[in-house]
Amino acid sequence: MKTIREVLTAGASLLRNSQAANETPFLDAMILLAYVLNISKEMLLASYPDKIDQKNEDTFNNLLKKRRANSPVAYLINSKEFYGLNFYVDKNVLVPRPDSETLVEEAVSIINNFPTTKNILDLCTGSGALGIALKHSLPKLTVTCSDLSAKAVDICKKNSLSILGEELITIKTDLFNDIEGKFDMIITNPPYLTDEETDMMMEKDWPEPGMALRAGMDGLDFIRKIINQAPDYMEKNAYILIESSIDQTEEIKQLLDSGRFYNTRIVKDLSGRNRVTIGQSV
Ligand code: GLN
Repeated sequence: MKTIREVLTAGASLLRNSQAANETPFLDAMILLAYVLNISKEMLLASYPDKIDQKNEDTFNNLLKKRRANSPVAYLINSKEFYGLNFYVDKNVLVPRPDSETLVEEAVSIINNFPTTKNILDLCTGSGALGIALKHSLPKLTVTCSDLSAKAVDICKKNSLSILGEELITIKTDLFNDIEGKFDMIITNPPYLTDEETDMMMEKDWPEPGMALRAGMDGLDFIRKIINQAPDYMEKNAYILIESSIDQTEEIKQLLDSGRFYNTRIVKDLSGRNRVTIGQSV
């Protein structure tokens, strides 16, 4: 029998030499092995000299194989930490990115300045990351989540139940089609990649759902529709926070400025890149 240290080191170097998984090979191997052994990463480090049984080693090797074939670690362990919370994820939803935490932080700080903010809509919610993290931070809010994918809606419900202990109102609909009423804030991380970017990812067998990424020639198909329709679902002075890629924010700000919005601005993510565009409805 090998030691945990030996198996981990071998696993990390296998990942280091693979095209798909060479960015954080040691961390990836550590997360996967801790998952197989059902212990924390800290515990794994403390267990270096211990022996690992063959069955666990085989399971670990099987996961490494899938990781080498491009599967995100989050899909392999069906879990991703976002805003300090553990979300269930699988191939039906995008893996929540740290970039999106910027949007939640900004929403929290706006709401703290305007404590009467109550009704929030998380449009294109996917796993529910944005809406659930916001509700977790500010439990008095009423948060509605929506998504076009029935499977995403199920996952969002599952996550809200496990993280918040209650099911948020979660609606399966195409953008605003089945949304009723007016909100004090809309938050959204809609699909925003260009067709070309999405095609390139799909050619490489990217495992995330294309429908969560693809957004037309310039990646703004959904964002344009949202900016056009949102004011009908917003109270006066309500906020909208839109995540996008860096090079889209200026154009989104212009779209907001030339639409029914004011007080528009762009917020940078933790890496200092433009990431979230914000406006208020007139
Ligand atoms: N941030 C994601 C990516 O770059 C895209 C997310 C989205 O389209 N909403 O892969």
